[in-house]
Amino acid sequence: MLARVDSEIEGLIMRELHRQQNTLMLIPSENYASPAVLEAQSCVFNNKYAEGYIANRYYQGCRWVDEVEKICIERAKKLFGAEHINVQTHSGTGANIACYQALLQPKDKILSLDLRQGGHLSHGKEGSLPFNFYTIVNYGLSRKTELFDLEEVRRVAKKENPRLIIVGTSSYPRKIEFGPWREIADEVGAYLMADMAHTIGLIAGKVYPDPVPYADVVTATTQKTLRGPRGAFIMCRKEIADRIDRAVFPGTQGGPFIHIIAAKAVCFKEAMDSSFKNYAHQIITNSRFLADGLMEEGFKLVTGGTDTHLILVDLSSKKITGRQAALLLEEAGIVVNKNCIPFDPLPPSITSGIRLGTPALTTRGMRESEMKLIAHWIGQILNNPQKGRIRSKIKLQVEDLCHSFPIYETYPAGYCYNS
Ligand SMILES: *Cc1c(COP(=O)(O)O)cnc(C)c1O
Repeated sequence: MLARVDSEIEGLIMRELHRQQNTLMLIPSENYASPAVLEAQSCVFNNKYAEGYIANRYYQGCRWVDEVEKICIERAKKLFGAEHINVQTHSGTGANIACYQALLQPKDKILSLDLRQGGHLSHGKEGSLPFNFYTIVNYGLSRKTELFDLEEVRRVAKKENPRLIIVGTSSYPRKIEFGPWREIADEVGAYLMADMAHTIGLIAGKVYPDPVPYADVVTATTQKTLRGPRGAFIMCRKEIADRIDRAVFPGTQGGPFIHIIAAKAVCFKEAMDSSFKNYAHQIITNSRFLADGLMEEGFKLVTGGTDTHLILVDLSSKKITGRQAALLLEEAGIVVNKNCIPFDPLPPSITSGIRLGTPALTTRGMRESEMKLIAHWIGQILNNPQKGRIRSKIKLQVEDLCHSFPIYETYPAGYCYNS
């Protein structure tokens, strides 16, 4: 149908499918949603307005909408054990802003990780809505270990007396234990928000510490390690449930995307299957193998390795920037992103690092031996930046490998998902 109505857009979708099929997706926030998820999110619920919440809508005709949202919430509760869950938020950034709206007054103080060290834009970057509405103060990582320095967090918290402390980042390769963060928040009377945008799939797969018992609010995306539709959800204790719901609608959003909520429900169902635990476990095994392989190729890794889905490579000792490295790798079909390392002297548009992650390759079915091979290719390319021939040769090898691990075999009709 699309091909007949709009061949231009249909053609671009097919090209993007080809790109995804024939390159190695190593961006840690990306993944392949299942055909079931894709099907649910392109359904007729797109056509429905449903402002409000279950059994309390501003529109008629919400019988099936209510069923979908109810099932979605029930599944999420079963998966994560939270007292209350709001599944209407459109994005991770929106979920974070809704939490600020629920818990803070304008000008209240938020304590978050310095953006340059892995904090997210929505934690208060200059020019953003949170930056303009609230008072942002930062803690940093330890220069020596590149890990969270809890004494530093406590010191800044006591000095600044924030109303809200945020834990959770976009580029931290190690597990976070949430107990000590709860203690610090209690010592200064602050709310604790865990931003689990990146790691929520690992939490669902029980290979990462659980923030739900410790944080007042947990925000999460559904498109990253959970490999669902693009979207988010918020988990909280029941005492603040009403404030969170009101902050989402009508506080910061209008009508919910019911087709996306349907797809989130599918994604939660998939995450409850035992195969999801294997996937989560394999993400970390793959990440460790990729990290070891990169170290054998002579790369320095931030914190010396990983115990999550992501790896931050410190290129400062190589004669190459993060930006150059990402461009060279893309020539060979290896897709990564440049990323600041802790205390990076270079700006975010250049950087001294690249960030790699294994969720998407793991969804494709790749395992330890493929990780070894990819680490070797990355070494070959970045240790010989002047040799275009190496990149051309590896590009063909990458395509061969990709052919052995198809993503959607006969997309868009008759889906086959390789997980
Ligand atoms: C990805 C991410 C988000 C949310 O991103 P959206 O693109 O707005 O969905 C929020 N916080 C962190 C730490 C993230 O990595």
